[in-house]
This record gives sequence, structure tokens and C-alpha cells, in this order.
Amino acid sequence: MRCEVVAVGTELLLGQIVDTNSSWMGERLALAGIDSHFQTKVGDNLERIVQALRIALSRSDAVIVCGGLGPTQDDITREAIAAVMNVSLVRDDEIGERIRSMFSSRGREMPENNLRQADVPAGASVIDQVRGTAPGLICPVGHKVIYAVPGVPYEMTEMMERAIVPDLQLRAGTVATILSRTLKTWGAAESKLAELLAPRLEALEGGGDGGATIAFLASGIEGIKVRLTVKSPDAEAAKGLLSAEEAQVRLILGDLVFGVDDDSMESSVGHLLRAAGWSLGVAESLTGGLVGSRLTNVVGASEWFRGGVVSYASEVKFDVLGVPEGPVVSAEAAAAMAVGARRVLGSDVGLSFTGVAGPAEQDGQPPGTVFVGLAMPGGSDAGESVLLKLPGDRERVRQFAAISGLDLLRKRLLADAAAPPS
Ligand code: ATP
Repeated sequence: MRCEVVAVGTELLLGQIVDTNSSWMGERLALAGIDSHFQTKVGDNLERIVQALRIALSRSDAVIVCGGLGPTQDDITREAIAAVMNVSLVRDDEIGERIRSMFSSRGREMPENNLRQADVPAGASVIDQVRGTAPGLICPVGHKVIYAVPGVPYEMTEMMERAIVPDLQLRAGTVATILSRTLKTWGAAESKLAELLAPRLEALEGGGDGGATIAFLASGIEGIKVRLTVKSPDAEAAKGLLSAEEAQVRLILGDLVFGVDDDSMESSVGHLLRAAGWSLGVAESLTGGLVGSRLTNVVGASEWFRGGVVSYASEVKFDVLGVPEGPVVSAEAAAAMAVGARRVLGSDVGLSFTGVAGPAEQDGQPPGTVFVGLAMPGGSDAGESVLLKLPGDRERVRQFAAISGLDLLRKRLLADAAAPPS
């Protein structure tokens, strides 16, 4: 079963809006195991929409067209489909009534134009609207089909899930269960991950091991996601395949994986702290509260997060945290800040951040120089620190520092859990 997408709207061609609908549909079709080889964008022009639909239908078994179902004169997707089907538009009184009552229930008068949305190509069936006014359409063309959905993403996604994907799967005769899981990684570039996973990707290429697939998705400063997808006619078998694939990939990637699906770096840190029965306090100079903000985003953080000191001025480092006077962007200062955070905040673990965000250098150190300090239970009384050299402008250095520091703590907690400090 091959299905392609045609997105309608002159504003898509002019770059006034980004065609996120096609990307979303592409991903959704892939997940449903339906091949999709082409995506087309076309303006609000009858002749060209008809042409785009004809070309798409000549190459594929099904076409999803999105946009141009609204009430105005330039919404002409219905007319284009009728032309391709070689039928006329017929007014569906039931839809007309529904639109009319939607307006009256909101106390608004319906512009007559809105009744255009009740026009349906003869022979098409309707996908009821539950979120807006324009219904979707299922339009048979010989043994092939055109689906029409509104351009508004919130309406489109609902119709795809409820009506179109199930209909496509029924036509394909493959009601398979498709499951996917995303492993979140930090600390390795995409090329490094690809190199590490190359033997596994090769083994899967021939469709072995249940035909799992592995895809990489970069997600900015939050690292790189590795998405595993499996497909099986049997739901239980699909679950087993996915768990087996996850185990294989984790064996290769080790502690580069910090979480799964909705996990974040901070939720993973919280999970490890809770398991160890330890609390955390932070001292932030460079990151100015970013780390505390991330940690308090985690539901239930009060169980393991004590709080933070934003020790931006040097005097605050000296007077509040007890950092010895001297350069404040240094390994010694970072370690002393972590020890001070632990003492002042009464936590088991102290984590600190000091560095140069830029644009100017500081204490002779270039922008991107970051020291992360750690004070661990059973660790050195003087604390410890790690030097990071981070790329980018001020904002990126601060964001990278926050996630990198949390990752250092995560790895340290993992190591301590594997071999508890004596
Ligand atoms: P409605 O029936 O609700 O009027 P419609 O089918 O007429 O919807 P359009 O008028 O083409 O849809 O688009 C409505 C809005 O939906 C656009 O202003 C835009 O915000 C969004 N939209 C349309 N097409 C896309 C697309 N391909 N990707 C992302 N957003 C889109």
C-alpha cells in the first residue's frame, strides 16, 4: 500500500507557513507501515491541484490532501477532487445543518459561505468533524482513494488517527501492531552513534530479528534520540521484539543512554538520587538558576531536590558558600562551590557551575570554559571538579553547561550505584 500527501495552500509555497502537516503525516504513515514516496505542495489553484492529485494517484494507491476545505472562495480542494473523480458536488443537508447549529450554539450567525463546506463530491463519504466545521472526505477513484482533511493541524491529526490510518490499514489488509521506543542519548555525536550501531544496523538491514528499524533524531541541546520501531501481526510479539531490540542497543550504547521516551536528563538524575536515597543542592553562577529550574520541572522533585544558591557575584561565592578568595572561574572554585552548596543547603550531594558564558573572556579564560563541581557522599572533603569546553554563543554555553553538568552527576550516580562508595 502506497500513500502520498498533497498539501494545498499558496502560503505554503510562499514560505508564510511551514508545512508541518506533511512531516507529521509522513511520520504517522511510516509508523503505520504504509509506504509514502512523495509529498507535494501546491497553491490554491484549481488546475494545479487537479494536476497534483492526478499525478499522485498515478503513482500511489491512496492520496491524502490537506488544506483548502474552508468556507472561502479560495478553498477549492472539494472542487478539485470532484474534477478528478469526474463527478459534481452535491450539498449534504445533514452537514449543512450541523454547521448551522454549531454557529447558533455559539450565538453567532452563520455566513452563507460556510455552507460550501457541506458540498461533497458525489460518491464520497464523510469523515465527521469533531473539532472544527469542515468535514473530511473519503473519495473513491476506481480502486484507489483520495482522503481530504482540513489544514488546521489540530483537526487534521484527529481525523488521521480516527479515520484515515485505520481505513488505510484495512485496505492494505495488514492490521499490524507497530511499536516504537525512543532512547535518549547525551555525549556522542550522531556520526559516533551511527558508527557504534553500524554492526547492529547491518544485522537488521536484511529484515532479521523481526525487522526492527533504528532511526536517529537530533534534538538540539537535548542530545540525540535513537528511535527503535518494530512491527508484528501480534501485539504481544511486538512488545517482546521491542524489549529485545532495546536490550541490544543499550548493550552497545551503555551509559550514553540517559532515558526513554518522556524521560529528561533531570528526571533521570532524580530517579537515580531517589534510588540512592540522597538529596541534591546546587550552586549556580554561570547557569544562574537554569539547573534549579530544570530540576523543579520534574514532578516529585521535592523528594530529592533541596534547592539552589544563585551565587553570581564573587562575594556571594566567598561569603555564602565559603569559597576561598581567588579566581572564581577555576577548578578549585567549582569544587568549593559544590561543597558549600552541600553544607548551606543540607543536601547529600552538591553540584556547582562556574564558567565564562561570553561574549568576553574572564580571568584570562575564553568563552565556553566551564567548571562543574561535585561533592559526593563518601567523596573528597574538598569536592571535585571537571573542566568542559563548550561551543556556541552565550545562550548555548549556558544551556549546554546545565545539561552537561547534570549528565556528569548522572554518570557519577550510576557508577556509585554499581560500586557503592566505601
Ligand atoms: P478550515 O476548514 O478550518 O478553514 P482548511 O482546510 O481551509 O481549514 P486552510 O485554510 O488551508 O485549511 O488552512 C487553515 C490553517 O491551517 C492555516 O492558516 C495554517 O495555519 C494551517 N495549515 C494549513 N495547511 C498546513 C500545513 N500543511 N502545515 C501546517 N499548517 C497548516
